[in-house]
Amino acid sequence: MKSLKIFFGNEDRVGIQDFVLLDAHNSETAFLDNLKKRFTEDLIYTYIGTLLISVNPYKELDIYTKKQMDLYMGVNFFELPPHIYALADNVYHTMLSEANNHFILISGESGAGKTEASKKILQYYAVSCPSSTLLDTVRDRMLMSNPVLEAFGNAKTMKNDNSSRFGKYMDIQFDYAVGGHILSYLLEKSRVVHQNHGERNFHIFYQLVEGGEEDLLRHLGLEKDTKHYSYLVQGECSNVSSINDKNDWKTVKNALSVIDFDASDIEHLFGIIASVLHMGNVHFDGDTKGYAILNSNAALRWVSKVLSPFTVDHAIYARDALAKAIYGRAFTWLVNRINESLENKDSERKTVIGLLDIYGFEVFFVNSFEQFCINYCNEKLQQLFIQLTLKSEQEEYEAEGIGWEPVQFFNNKIICDLVEEKHRGIISVLDEECMRPGDATDLTFLEKLEEKMGNHPHFVTHKLADKKTRKSLERGDFRLLHYAGEVTYCVVGFIDKNNDLLYKNIKDVMRLSKNPIIQECFPATEGDSRRRPETVATQFKNSLLRLMEILTVKEAWYVRCLKSNDNKQSGKFDEVLVRHQVKYLGLMEHLRVRRAGFAYRRRYEVFLQRYKALCPATWPHWRGVPAEGVEKLVQHLGYQPDEYKMGRTKIFIRYARTLFATEDAFEICK
Ligand code: ADP
Ligand code: MG
Repeated sequence: MKSLKIFFGNEDRVGIQDFVLLDAHNSETAFLDNLKKRFTEDLIYTYIGTLLISVNPYKELDIYTKKQMDLYMGVNFFELPPHIYALADNVYHTMLSEANNHFILISGESGAGKTEASKKILQYYAVSCPSSTLLDTVRDRMLMSNPVLEAFGNAKTMKNDNSSRFGKYMDIQFDYAVGGHILSYLLEKSRVVHQNHGERNFHIFYQLVEGGEEDLLRHLGLEKDTKHYSYLVQGECSNVSSINDKNDWKTVKNALSVIDFDASDIEHLFGIIASVLHMGNVHFDGDTKGYAILNSNAALRWVSKVLSPFTVDHAIYARDALAKAIYGRAFTWLVNRINESLENKDSERKTVIGLLDIYGFEVFFVNSFEQFCINYCNEKLQQLFIQLTLKSEQEEYEAEGIGWEPVQFFNNKIICDLVEEKHRGIISVLDEECMRPGDATDLTFLEKLEEKMGNHPHFVTHKLADKKTRKSLERGDFRLLHYAGEVTYCVVGFIDKNNDLLYKNIKDVMRLSKNPIIQECFPATEGDSRRRPETVATQFKNSLLRLMEILTVKEAWYVRCLKSNDNKQSGKFDEVLVRHQVKYLGLMEHLRVRRAGFAYRRRYEVFLQRYKALCPATWPHWRGVPAEGVEKLVQHLGYQPDEYKMGRTKIFIRYARTLFATEDAFEICK
């Protein structure tokens, strides 16, 4: 049997690379010390069993080279220092050997490193999986879909200079050919027309204006300076030191051509981006009766036709609604278009690895409908994690008759219910107000909430604020006690954003556009149905529900990203901040379950089938009860009594290394 080379390094200096092996496993302080020790040595990855913790270093590390990829390829998980490549490789090989579907859930708050992690995983697969010429095009496209989607869907926020403002789930399909499919979730399109101080609009606007070729800009009627565009100046931070819009423009243009966009696609796509910028510059004056009149000469004819019977406020509202609709729909079009180019048409049966990278939990100075949706989404992901690890794991031990001391944990289902429960949750109350004709306002919505949720332990109104959290609350706010901390939401805009209405005559005009992308985005069939379209929050809730269905039928792997500090500063390990994340992510509880529990379990039949060649008594056939065959087999392999337990239908193996040793032996005898 090949000897098992577990790489420990110098423990004093580099800490322990798998928390399961930490002596003081119940101590949060020891946990943090270990993370910090490793972080100081630029070792940002640590395991809890097969779960990977990543601490954002905020600096480029020399660990993502082709050489590193080669090192990790096909090597057993615990043989090398923890790495995102080790996880990616392990998932890939498990998928091959078990011929089933997997997903990698990447979570953590905004700026913790989720998007970077998901890119590294994708790069690993693109570079290290077997290749053929046909597939190389899809492979390149898969990699190039990233800069394109980031340009259109990411923006600078106070938390992160490259913050994802949409959720992304990508299936990487493996067969003789590789393919991919992306699902996108709720783009924060309000950003198109409004940015808070210190924040920017989506990157693509700045890239086009700063980097666009002169001919192109002339053709689009754009000035080469972002300060001319009112949709780009509100945040007062067009230039960001960490962002080079000119270079990024080149990257995006190149990426678009790899994804098979031809010159006319590109012209139409940027025509849309330019039209949004122009729209923002359409200003309205009031006439003597207070009705809007256009003051802009360059204004498009339809704008005046459609918008002038409104008051000035109304006209601005309609203008912004249109800008958001155009951008949001163009984004959806872009995702569909990328999916066409990633499609693997050659094969029917594919196994997939899903990559989930969604906007992280966020708390700003002012939090609105968007943060409400984003944070709700994070509650759902935490709930999934709890369901799949802490809860089902412990239930399985019980069902299999394995002696077990239950580990207590905070179950955030109560918060998910508060938000999403039918007829009773916040979304239901919001929808009801949105459907109510006449006098529903953001404040009546808040009153309804107070009436219905006032006593809920995770909901705080200004009346009860002092009692529940000892912090007072403004009249127009409500506060939710999320699993990751408390967030105060300002109700202004909730009703409008949830309704997301676009005047019918504006849609009709868009349909007449000569731009083929716009034509596709505003199909003639839309609005035929008499039924009221679903509200934004309900659509989002349903799309998350479908996502949970997609995920729960796959085998789960986890990357938990931690933010090292709030200032995007390299080398700084803010202990208070990290401790808070370790707590709310439930990492200590996860460790407790992992330590007391079993890293691996296999149904007896499956285990026996795979390893029967390793024992004379089970080779070539075991004719008896599978469990007894397995017992014979593991005794022959020298498993110690504390290393495994026999359940009702499965063998439970405590340490991953035990199984890996068996796997090594299997590889050799094959
Ligand atoms: P999230 O998606 O969780 O909001 P990002 O993945 O966008 O966060 O990371 C935010 C920033 O942190 C990145 O732009 C990068 O500067 C830095 N960062 C994140 N992960 C790493 C890493 N592994 N190595 C170096 N820098 C990183
Ligand atoms: Mg991100």
